[in-house]
Amino acid sequence: MTDRPQITIFDTTLRDGEQSPGCSMNVQEKLRLARQLDRLGVDVIEAGFPIASDGDFEAVQKIAANVRRPIIAGLARACTPDIDRAWAAVKSAAHPRIHVFLATSDIHLKYKLRITREQCLAQAEAAVRHAKSLCADIQFSPEDATRTDIPFLCNVVEAVIAAGATTVNIPDTVGYSMPEEYGQLIRTLRENVAGIENVTISTHCHNDLGLAVANSLAGVQNGARQVECTVNGIGERAGNASLEEIAMTMRVRADHYPYQTAIAGEQIFASSQMLAEITGVPVQPNKAITGRNAFAHEAGIHQDGMLKNPLTYEIMTPQSVGVPDSRLVLGKHSGRHALALRCEQLGHKFERRELDELYRKFVILADRIKRVQDNHLIGLIQDAGTMTSSPDLSHFAAARKIGPRSAPMMNFPRTAAAAAAAAHESVSIQIAQSSVAIPFPDKRADHEDYLWGV
Ligand SMILES: [Zn+2]
Repeated sequence: MTDRPQITIFDTTLRDGEQSPGCSMNVQEKLRLARQLDRLGVDVIEAGFPIASDGDFEAVQKIAANVRRPIIAGLARACTPDIDRAWAAVKSAAHPRIHVFLATSDIHLKYKLRITREQCLAQAEAAVRHAKSLCADIQFSPEDATRTDIPFLCNVVEAVIAAGATTVNIPDTVGYSMPEEYGQLIRTLRENVAGIENVTISTHCHNDLGLAVANSLAGVQNGARQVECTVNGIGERAGNASLEEIAMTMRVRADHYPYQTAIAGEQIFASSQMLAEITGVPVQPNKAITGRNAFAHEAGIHQDGMLKNPLTYEIMTPQSVGVPDSRLVLGKHSGRHALALRCEQLGHKFERRELDELYRKFVILADRIKRVQDNHLIGLIQDAGTMTSSPDLSHFAAARKIGPRSAPMMNFPRTAAAAAAAAHESVSIQIAQSSVAIPFPDKRADHEDYLWGV
């Protein structure tokens, strides 16, 4: 442990995240994910919105009863039935929290709630007081805080603190804030609200302009000590601040963000995969930290550098976020070094001249099909007749007789070289009967290895 301030990670994957289109989960799925969030080391799990449905209530209750380390929060609007229902769902938790919210912006007051500012203030205060009579740990969120008149926001926050709130969460509900602006708002609250030094200030930023993580970090730099976020950044519309991006930014750039979280980095990838599997919503391939390409290197010069020393192009290791290994994707930007290594993993070791010949064919094929899979590579090797390396292909024979469509998937043993550099998906190939016929123009020169990706 260092003396860097600890940032509480409030995970709302099961509440705000579950509100994203296509991401709804049943009770068993939520419980399974909550157990993974526990392993991931989040401090607070917002398990659901108990009054929203019986299923939500049951999920929150089950998580409260079964996941004992983190705080378990239930969401409630600022009214007695919601608060009572939330309390009924979380009260069996080892560490229960009620999260009360009420919109405070004029646009929400006028068109959604149809109440005045005075009524809003009174309702917020009364709701927090009622929640506090049930539970010691109370969080209050002035919904749409970033579009709320700032003096009025200060009044509301001051009132709910006096009524017993222990965490005040400042939502950028519509994802409208800029980092400087959001940071300044947190600072203004700290400087102007009586009693704020006794509570935790929290961020809740939406990603409509792609700034959710930047805004959350700006909030932390200005005194927020809790961040609300979700795995893979899922959430309403464009989503929430991504948990993995917040946690790894603070780890990788601790020089710039001298804070710490209790997140177990090596559980990040498993959490992301489990969420994608449960919801059926895949992670965008280029998603930071958890996307399938986040640690893939295709450009030749990058691959060559990676093989010599991963630090050349990696700011964090795949292992540090639980990705078993970085992947070298073979495409037209790949160089000889990466090609040779993959061939080795497939059981073929070539002399320089043979490799040159194979490489020329490889580049032509890669130009056409973009990503060269292992089966394509095997086809090239067989066509080239460059079998002087006497690979052991006996285990292919059976598959080849069966024919291309029904060929079984085969798992190759991982070599030391594979472990060092190759696919973290098992090197699994399907043998194609007819390899692609490749014209064989002799144009490419050695230096073309490194034309790409500089
Ligand atoms: Zn939200």
